[in-house]
Amino acid sequence: MQTLGNYINGERVDSTSDRDNSVYDPATGEVIRKVSLSTVEETQAAITAAKQAFVTWSEVTPLNRARVMFKFKALLETHKDELATLITKEHGKVFSDAQGELTRGIEVVEFACGIPHLLKGEQSMNVGRGVDSFSLMQPVGVCAGISPFNFPAMVPLWMFPVAIACGNTFVMKPSEKDPSTILRIAELLTEAGLPDGVFNVVNGDKTSVDVLITNEDVDAISFVGSTPIAEYVYNVGNQHGKRVQALGGAKNHLVVMPDADLELVSGALMGAAYGSAGERCMAISVAVCVGDEAADALIAQLQQEIAQMRVGPGLGEGDEPHMGPLISREHAAKVQEYISDGVEEGATLVADGRNYRVSGCEKGYFVGPTLFDNVTPKMRIYNEEIFGPVLSVVRVSSFEEALALVNRHEYGNGTSIFTANGEAAHAYCHKVQVGMVGVNVPIPVPMAFHSFGGWKRSIFGPLNMHGPDGVRFYTKMKTVTARWPKGQQNINHFTMPTMK
Ligand code: NAD
Repeated sequence: MQTLGNYINGERVDSTSDRDNSVYDPATGEVIRKVSLSTVEETQAAITAAKQAFVTWSEVTPLNRARVMFKFKALLETHKDELATLITKEHGKVFSDAQGELTRGIEVVEFACGIPHLLKGEQSMNVGRGVDSFSLMQPVGVCAGISPFNFPAMVPLWMFPVAIACGNTFVMKPSEKDPSTILRIAELLTEAGLPDGVFNVVNGDKTSVDVLITNEDVDAISFVGSTPIAEYVYNVGNQHGKRVQALGGAKNHLVVMPDADLELVSGALMGAAYGSAGERCMAISVAVCVGDEAADALIAQLQQEIAQMRVGPGLGEGDEPHMGPLISREHAAKVQEYISDGVEEGATLVADGRNYRVSGCEKGYFVGPTLFDNVTPKMRIYNEEIFGPVLSVVRVSSFEEALALVNRHEYGNGTSIFTANGEAAHAYCHKVQVGMVGVNVPIPVPMAFHSFGGWKRSIFGPLNMHGPDGVRFYTKMKTVTARWPKGQQNINHFTMPTMK
C-alpha cells in the first residue's frame, strides 16, 4: 500500500518515521493509503529548505513572483477534476462540492497574481520641506501553515499563495486525514516554475506542529482548525516570538424574521446546514426563528425537503447525492452521540440521521440529515460545535431576543439574517458580534479580495486570512523618511525632530 511522505526542496521525499496514519475512503470505510507522521528532524529539514530558499526568493521581483502565480492558476484549472477527485476520495464531500472548494481556492491565487499592485505601499511627498516618506512592504521570512481536514485544498490556498507572492517561503502541514491533494498541488507549483524550497509540505501530527510553532527559523504561523488547538498554537507561537493568525471553530446562526420568504429560507438552510455533511466552519447549525408561525411553517417545509435528500458516495454514476459521508468512523459516532444527547435534553427530534444506511456503502461513515426543534440555549447541542449534518431550530419571540442569543454565543464566525425588512437587516449587521454576516445569503464567505475571519473564540490574532489582511499578515512594513539636502544643512537636533 502507498505511504505518502513529504514534499521538500521541490520533490517528494519518503519519510523515515516509524509512525503513520491510515487514510480512509469515508464512503466505503476502506483504508486507501497511509501517510507518514514526520519526525522532528524531517520537519526541521523542511524549515531549513524554506530558510535557504528565502534568500533568493525574497529578492525575486513581485512581477516575476506574480508570473509564477499566473502559471500556477492555469495548472490548477487544468488539473481541477483530478484534484477534486482526490478531495472526494479522502474527504468524502460530493464531487461538485470539491470542485467548488477548488474554485474558491483558485480565486485566492488570482488575488495573489495582483501582488505588484498590492505591495505598492504608502507614500507622502513633502512631509517636511524636501522630505518624503514612503513604506516598503517586505516579506516576513519562513511562514508555516497548519490546516484542518474539512478543506484540504481551499484552506491551504487561503494561506500560501499570498505568502509566497509577498516573497516569503512556506512549510505546509496539512491534516493527516486527507493529505494527498496538497502534495499534488505542491508538484503543480514546481511545474509552474516556483524555485525548489519555496513551498514545502510536511505530513504529520502534533510532533510536526510543535516544531513549527517553536522553531526559531519560523517567522509566521497561519492556523485553521478547532478552537482548543487554535488557542494552543496562538499562545505557544506568540511565546516564541512569531506572528500568528489562528482561526478556530464555529456555531453559526441564521435568523429567520417573520417577514422572510420561507421557501427561500428553507432552500438556503438545506444547503448551508447539510452541504458537505455540515463539515464546514461556515455551515449554519442553528436557525433562530422569530415567532412560532415562522417556525412551524419552516419546520414543515424542511421536513419535506429532507425527505427528498439524496445521501451517498461523492463519486459515482447517476445523480450526484446532495451530501456524502463524514470524515471518520469516530466522528460519525460522535455526531450520533450529540443527536442522542439532544433527545435526552428534551429537544424535539424531527428528522433522525442516526443509523443511516446507504445501500452498497454499508461500511461508510454516513449520518443522515438531522433536524431538531425546540432547542434551548442551555442544551449541549446548542452550545457545542457538532460539525455534522445536524440543524437546531431555536424559537424566540423578537428580533432583540434573536440578536442577544447570537451575541451571547462563544463563537462568532458567520451568521445570516433572512428578512424583507431593510431596517432589521441593517440593525443586525451593525450590532451582531460576528465576523462574517449575510443578508439573505446563508453562507457569507468573503471573496478572495476581501478577508476571511470570525470574532470571539473563532479567531486568535488580529489579522484575517487572504485579501488585504493576508497581505498585511505576510509582510512587514518599513517606513522610510528621506531627504536629499543640497549643500550643508544643520540636521543636529537635540530636541525631538519636528517637520517645518
Ligand atoms: P483540528 O484542530 O483537529 O486539526 C487542525 C490541525 O491541527 C491539523 O493539521 C492537525 O494535525 C493539527 N492538530 C490536531 N491536534 C493537535 C494538537 N494537539 N497539537 C497540535 N496540532 C494539532 O481540526 P479538524 O478536526 O481537522 O478540523 C475541523 C475544525 O476546524 C472545526 O472546528 C472547524 O470549525 C474548524 N475550521 C475552522 C475554519 C475557520 O475558518 N474558522 C475553517 C475550517 C475549519
